[in-house]
Amino acid sequence: TYSLGPKISNWNQERKVWLSQNPEFPNFVNGKPRILLLTGSPPSPCDNPIGDHYLLKAIKNKIDYCRIHGIEIVYNMAHLDKELAGYWAKLPMIRRLMLSHPEIEWIWWMDSDAMFTDMVFEIPLSKYDKHNLVIHGYPDLLFEQKSWIALNTGSFLFRNCQWSLDLLDAWAPMGPKGAIREEAGKILTANLKGRPAFEADDQSALIYLLLSQKDQWMDKVYIENQYYLHGYWAGLVDRYEEMMEKYHPGLGDERWPFVTHFVGCKPCGSYGDYPVEQCMRSMERAFNFADNQVLKLYGFGHRGLLSPKIKRIRNETVTPLEYVDQFDIRRPVHGDS
Ligand code: UDP
Ligand code: MN
Repeated sequence: TYSLGPKISNWNQERKVWLSQNPEFPNFVNGKPRILLLTGSPPSPCDNPIGDHYLLKAIKNKIDYCRIHGIEIVYNMAHLDKELAGYWAKLPMIRRLMLSHPEIEWIWWMDSDAMFTDMVFEIPLSKYDKHNLVIHGYPDLLFEQKSWIALNTGSFLFRNCQWSLDLLDAWAPMGPKGAIREEAGKILTANLKGRPAFEADDQSALIYLLLSQKDQWMDKVYIENQYYLHGYWAGLVDRYEEMMEKYHPGLGDERWPFVTHFVGCKPCGSYGDYPVEQCMRSMERAFNFADNQVLKLYGFGHRGLLSPKIKRIRNETVTPLEYVDQFDIRRPVHGDS
């Protein structure tokens, strides 16, 4: 069967030795595990040219979040393995980054159509000390319903370790495009509740793998739903004004969603499950909602959630450091949480 590359079986030990020999590249910095956020988009321009503008906004949003929180970022546009073109392209790239950057402790995949909408919230990594894969979802949807949306592969984290390489190896075989992907799609549709008939996608394949080999993998998988590591856009984008009125960034859950993911919107392609106008409008709102949190430090904000235009939100001052102390969002929020 298909493989992602030569079988690696001693990664934990080899990485450990490498880390001890390269103390200038530690996997923990100031007590925090080193994280690399990986995202990307297809190698060619979008079918719909406005899609490229939204890809730009989405990467600006991720650069802002990562800069604020000291996370490294990689944008991939290559198909490292032509068999795994499209949504499967994340698998070989995740593997490549683990092997090329032993100093990275967690690789965080995020889809191009997902945006950070809470610029303050940080992933509570210490909660996952005993886990190797962190993914948003619901255990009952997975194990009782066998639903094809039980987990979402638009935003998840893998620990850099042997277990993750093994999981990638077990996950990849349904990916090769053409007959294999088509046939695998039939198995997935037959076994997963709610799944339309189409070729095998990475999300369904992961769900199917975890269902069929539960005992082998689930010990090390953390299914997260305490905050929106992935948040489905449709229930969120119309509530931003209400959130701004009642809450504040830093909560990460339905009160102020960490991530808003535009599942079913294909602004870059020519087809999608929702009208393109509704998708664009909603992405514009999500982007500006997030950008307001960044601009606030500089004394500006968008005129409205649909406006690229900005306005001053406070007067210039001769004592700027007061505002640095007050508005730098890297500082812990005081008050309720
Ligand atoms: N992707 C990529 N290269 C490709 C196609 C997709 O890196 O050639 C990434 C991109 O970040 C996208 C994700 O894979 O958001 C999921 O792909 P899909 O086609 O499912 O797009 P989405 O559902 O996110 O619109
Ligand atoms: Mn997506």
